[in-house]
Amino acid sequence: MAGEPQEDCLFCKIVAKHVPATIVRETDTTVAFRDINPQAPTHVLVIPKVHHADAARLAAAEPEIAADVLREAQAVADAEELDSYRIVFNTGSGAGQTVWHAHAHVLGGRGLQWPPG
Ligand code: 5GP
Ligand code: ZN
Repeated sequence: MAGEPQEDCLFCKIVAKHVPATIVRETDTTVAFRDINPQAPTHVLVIPKVHHADAARLAAAEPEIAADVLREAQAVADAEELDSYRIVFNTGSGAGQTVWHAHAHVLGGRGLQWPPG
């Protein structure tokens, strides 16, 4: 069934606390934790607890939880006292997606160029 934990998914393991992570926020439907390879002073990943391969599939299957991810991105920005920040959903390997469990990158704490690379 869509959304169920996948045995071979790193982020499902972080949700289950089988893999350690520096968790900064957790709700009934989401977990936010620091990226292991930060690209900015604040680099937090916000993930749904349910497994979907990318943000679009999450939004199609469980739109309320997709909205929870966006609300949590703002909550992370508030907690980190970020006036400006960027939310990135890499979608597809050509865009740099390497983990096939939907996740929002929340980046801030430095100037962010536009357009991005
Ligand atoms: P993607 O490249 O799929 O958009 O983002 C995956 C992110 O997960 C990368 O920024 C990568 O640094 C991060 N990441 C990969 N493995 C781990 C891990 O074991 N722990 C944490 N906290 N982040 C991870
Ligand atoms: Zn997963």
